[in-house]
Amino acid sequence: MAFPFAHHLQGSSLSKNITVGANREEVLRVAIMGLGSYGTRVAEAMQDSTRSKLVGVISGTPSKIKDWQGKYGIPEKNCYNYENFDQIKDNPDIDAVYIITPNSLHKDQAIRVANAGKHVICEKPMALNEKEGREMVQACKKNNVKLLVGYRMRLEPNTLEIVRMREEDELGKIMFFQGLSGFRIGDPNQWRLDKDLAGGGAMMDIGIYSVNGARYMVGEDPIWVTAQETKTDPEKFKEGVDETIQFQFGFPSGAVASCLSTYNMSHLDRFFLNGQKGFAELQPATGYGPIKGRTHKGPLEKPHVTHQTVQMDEMSDMILKGKEPKLPLDGVEGTKDLIIIDAIYKAVASGRKEKIDVTF
Ligand code: NAD
Repeated sequence: MAFPFAHHLQGSSLSKNITVGANREEVLRVAIMGLGSYGTRVAEAMQDSTRSKLVGVISGTPSKIKDWQGKYGIPEKNCYNYENFDQIKDNPDIDAVYIITPNSLHKDQAIRVANAGKHVICEKPMALNEKEGREMVQACKKNNVKLLVGYRMRLEPNTLEIVRMREEDELGKIMFFQGLSGFRIGDPNQWRLDKDLAGGGAMMDIGIYSVNGARYMVGEDPIWVTAQETKTDPEKFKEGVDETIQFQFGFPSGAVASCLSTYNMSHLDRFFLNGQKGFAELQPATGYGPIKGRTHKGPLEKPHVTHQTVQMDEMSDMILKGKEPKLPLDGVEGTKDLIIIDAIYKAVASGRKEKIDVTF
């Protein structure tokens, strides 16, 4: 099979020769909301996208807007702030808004974008809990716009190769998944350590990769969870901000998972899947790449791609052409992770095995 993302190979001269398609219907015109560190990464990656184009910005900082206008040729009429961005409804030159702000802002911002009739792309975690997630899904449905989540790993070639092997029974019946997700967080004053803005701690930010990964690696949604929290630095990780949580899932098939989420270990980024015929591992599993992995058959050798470039190309096809990705990354998927995270926090508090029901 031809490699579908060949034009995104890093360092390939191919990507530089491809110009944006003449048919504007095929190019998704995107405004980024939140010009912070990940927003900057997405904007850079979008320069190599052939099917998405950065055309607008929404920011509370006028100097950043000026910088981005200069750098990306963004016209004044496509610049908004957090007070006036509802007016985007009158702008026919923007198709979608990509929300890349702190977690607790996502829900209201997404609903405002949907009410303005624009498609919503939202960073993970999509919101703070199941209730918020469902409200976002409803608002997008009501306004007949798409809601997609920045789950870039669901489009990553080595990850998809493991999914293919599992589906074609090369690993046999799946019995076990291990997901380890963490990094050592720095500045104690950042929003990620503020419960009101982050909605929690490591679980909301990085543990979610193991939650989401458990689902696409095992190929099922969990039906129960047990979880244990440990905190070694209560000064830095205040009430409601989790430092480390270990959690275990059970799946309908009988497979189980054992995962860890932390803000206090470095280079922790590993997935391991075991079946009755073999194994697959990824380490690093969710970083910006290169993603490295091997199976009982040998190393995984899909070439490195820029995740955000692939994501913006693929999301363009999902929004403009109704393309269904191999692994879905829509608002329902985002809400399922929130249902599971709600259950993890519940299990931490109760000390008991909690049921999970992600039925929508
Ligand atoms: P950041 O702090 O670098 O940027 C956040 C931006 O939001 C800043 O420009 C800030 O000015 C703006 N902002 C607007 N209102 C704000 C408010 N009330 N308080 C604080 N900032 C406000 O953060 P980031 O790393 O870019 O993360 C943004 C989002 O992207 C988060 O939801 C995060 O989980 C997600 N993210 C995803 C990935 C990924 O790989 N998919 C990677 C990093 C971050």
